[in-house]
Amino acid sequence: MHPLTMPRRKQIFEGKAKILFQGPEPGTLVQYFKDDATAFNNKKRGTITGKGVLNNRISEYLMLRLEEIGIATHFVRRLNMREQLVREVEIIPVEVVVRNVAAGSISKKFAIPEGTRLPRSIVEYYYKNDELDDPPISEEHITGFGWATIQEIDEMLNMSLRINDFLMGLFLGISIKLVDFKLEYGRLYHDNGDIQLVLADELSPDNCRLWDVHTDEKMDKDRFRRDLGKIEEAYQEVARRLGILPESGPGDIQGTTTLQ
Ligand code: UDP
Repeated sequence: MHPLTMPRRKQIFEGKAKILFQGPEPGTLVQYFKDDATAFNNKKRGTITGKGVLNNRISEYLMLRLEEIGIATHFVRRLNMREQLVREVEIIPVEVVVRNVAAGSISKKFAIPEGTRLPRSIVEYYYKNDELDDPPISEEHITGFGWATIQEIDEMLNMSLRINDFLMGLFLGISIKLVDFKLEYGRLYHDNGDIQLVLADELSPDNCRLWDVHTDEKMDKDRFRRDLGKIEEAYQEVARRLGILPESGPGDIQGTTTLQ
């Protein structure tokens, strides 16, 4: 169902690939996954048919696996083909990028050929701000501008490295190289006053670089960014290898039911 024809409910925020609605209970939100794709800070726009359905499912699967190893996330449960229930958090405006293999901006910046294995995983921070094109930042900027405390940076770094180790193994098991990915964190305010840092946003081929181990074929949003074609197929192949492609195939990917 197109977002405009969905039953009325309060829209909190519309992003490039998702819409956030008020959830059914206080402290919850509904995350709706669109088929819209953007790249180069909105300069390139398009639609990837079925992407929202696949990312909803892939992100659910990965967040649940991470919960199993003790990583706290905002994910509660999937509601339907395109929507998931999440906890309302205060998003920290810092994008944490973890890299195992050189690609994209790091290759360009430091003239490292794409595909070069990095001597150790590199973590970078970017300020989440579209108008400014997500500029790279250091810990000094994060604490200096009050975006997060030193303790929170420490926790984000430790969680991100653990997530990286776990996801690298998970993907390697299905012959996929986890080249790099972007994470976002949020503060979850508990009723007793505790503030917990949790993984938020989504984990999908939209914000990970995933390459086939044997052929280095790209199975992520770079297919869209670089006009490589077979975008839908690549996202589906990731879901298929994870063992979560809807049984009835693409037919399932068309229809959605939405929750009021
Ligand atoms: N990324 C993202 N959102 C952004 C920027 C980057 O999800 O706003 C992801 C991107 O998909 C890749 C990783 O972070 O998996 C590293 O991206 P890079 O810095 O190479 O940027 P890009 O090539 O997208 O300019």
